[in-house]
Amino acid sequence: MIETTRFNQIGIIGSGQMGSGIAQVCATHGFKVFLNDTNPNSLEKAKSSIETSLNKLVSKGLLPVESPKKSLDLIDFVTDLNSLKNCDLAIEAIHENIDAKGEILRKLDEIMDPAAVIGTNTSSISITKLASYSLYPERVIGIHFMNPVPLINLVEIINGLKTSPGTLAKTLLFCKNLSKETIRSDDYPGFVINRILMPMINEAFEVLREGIATAEDIDRGMKQGTNQPMGPIALADFIGLDTCLSILEVLHRGLGDPKYRPSPLLQKYVNAGLLGRKTKQGVYTY
Ligand code: NAD
Repeated sequence: MIETTRFNQIGIIGSGQMGSGIAQVCATHGFKVFLNDTNPNSLEKAKSSIETSLNKLVSKGLLPVESPKKSLDLIDFVTDLNSLKNCDLAIEAIHENIDAKGEILRKLDEIMDPAAVIGTNTSSISITKLASYSLYPERVIGIHFMNPVPLINLVEIINGLKTSPGTLAKTLLFCKNLSKETIRSDDYPGFVINRILMPMINEAFEVLREGIATAEDIDRGMKQGTNQPMGPIALADFIGLDTCLSILEVLHRGLGDPKYRPSPLLQKYVNAGLLGRKTKQGVYTY
């Protein structure tokens, strides 16, 4: 193992469900954080959801009472990407769109020191392809956190073809500093977790579409029958139906097997703008 040192300042781009969760966990583990979003409303929302989540963890006895204030003091909520200038790690967590993510990588090349590491939280896009947007592909790596980040202990680490051993070593140390467990995945569509999870969610939508069972019975069946904490339809609503659809499209395109074809019912919900919890309605109403 290569000797390496702890990162000091972490930049996070995108303050949605994932970016805000990653910022929270970095701050509770003592990192200075710059949380960036182009949308000020999203930053406002992130601040209040981080505060609510920290207070909940205190009330459950999982964090000391002083933690919410201490952690929030460590996070700067910024609309200007240039604020990430002195960060030694940036984690991109904007929506699942390759061109938009590539544009962020290009901008970070101009803003950050070439020795800094760039992680991407993409659920499915090729790390090798994303890294090709950067002049320094050796510093780009997949750091795939699970939702909700403060509660789920696992991070999937994905090397692109040109990711350097130094980038990997620094990233593994960072995950250890966050008390997260890691698994390593090679850079293939869906990596490990979504390659297995998304076909299950997709099949649940097909069972619903064919009228074989109600959403409630599918979820209750999978919870009680296979000991999962959440049924697949409720989980899809939680992840975001648009995110599920785009991961399935990547699996379908990337692996070329018809078994990954997105369910037309899932497609229909997304077309209607019913994206799950984040829009207060998906298959279920929230
Ligand atoms: P989200 O839609 O909740 O948030 C995305 C945020 O990015 C929004 O606040 C938006 O304003 C911001 N944004 C868009 N363009 C930007 C730009 N150019 N600069 C700065 N901010 C910008 O999305 P999410 O669910 O948090 O997902 C983010 C990433 O994490 C995606 O790649 C997704 O695939 C991945 N992911 C999601 C989950 C999940 O369960 N939702 C789990 C693991 C990984």
